[in-house]
Amino acid sequence: MTERPALPYGFFDVHVLRTERIGTALIRVTFGGDRLGDLVTDGRDQRFKLFLPQPGQETPLLPEPLDEGWYARWRAQDPSTRAVMRTYTFRALRRLPDGTTELDVDFVQHGDATHSGPASAWSRTARPGDRAAILAPVVTDNGGADYRPPAGTDWTLITADESALPAVAGILAWLPAGMPARVWIEIPHPDDIQPLPTAADADITWLIRDTDPTLTDAVSTATLPPGTPYAWIAGEAGTVRALRRHLVNDRGIDRKAITFTGYWRKGKTEEQLLDELA
Ligand SMILES: Cc1cc2nc3c(=O)[nH]c(=O)nc-3n(C[C@H](O)[C@H](O)[C@H](O)COP(=O)(O)OP(=O)(O)OC[C@H]3O[C@@H](n4cnc5c(N)ncnc54)[C@H](O)[C@@H]3O)c2cc1C
Repeated sequence: MTERPALPYGFFDVHVLRTERIGTALIRVTFGGDRLGDLVTDGRDQRFKLFLPQPGQETPLLPEPLDEGWYARWRAQDPSTRAVMRTYTFRALRRLPDGTTELDVDFVQHGDATHSGPASAWSRTARPGDRAAILAPVVTDNGGADYRPPAGTDWTLITADESALPAVAGILAWLPAGMPARVWIEIPHPDDIQPLPTAADADITWLIRDTDPTLTDAVSTATLPPGTPYAWIAGEAGTVRALRRHLVNDRGIDRKAITFTGYWRKGKTEEQLLDELA
């Protein structure tokens, strides 16, 4: 029997192999790295932590060694030199015939050249060879995937904005054949629509922001299938809260059958959100 690692994730040095604009909203960064073959995921909305260098640094300053104290150590580091830490989703993990592994991550392009977040801005200028690090899973059961339909689920309801589109892609790819899925995805532009392969019986509605109804309006006026649902809602925190309230209060969905995650919050950086939790 192989021994289970002490922590279900590890630090990995990564470098940019290539980038690709895949729509108005998203840039796909493909990462490589010597040890990426050790990454393990069971798919779905598999999240990980991305560590980026500060301006002027070539590599991010990590809170090593990796043990239970890594997060406290990162918080205690000087914010001007510690790595920028952000949460992202595995869009794809590919084992290549030559034995190497590639990781795709889709970055939302928010803000503009002067006002953006460091992670979004980094992806915009990322070039092959640029270095970063990730804290990412090394076992399947790593606690980093939240899409967990309870036994007895008849159908699934999914809502997302572009930040949670990579997670929706992973969930749809994972769903069993024939599982009914009602999916609403809000995106800035029609060119952000992408193929989402699935064996599920998925009915996907793409909503163009500022043109189509909002996510909340679209979901609250929809006729939902009969049976027991499991809902997964992610995106901007305020929208996520409103949708959850609607599903619990107006649709009578069991709150235990709803997984909801604010992927970002208007006007707050991820550090500010972490400070609120501390
Ligand atoms: C589990 C999980 C998985 C995630 N997966 C992904 C993913 O695969 N791809 C992805 O792009 N994001 C993903 N996110 C969201 C991402 O972590 C945040 O958007 C993060 O704030 C981006 O960091 P930043 O440095 O660009 O912006 P920050 O420095 O954190 O924020 C700067 C400003 O930008 C605003 N902002 C942040 N994100 C957005 C956005 N998406 N749209 C508009 N304004 C924004 C903030 O409100 C703030 O005012 C995920 C979040 C979670 C919790």
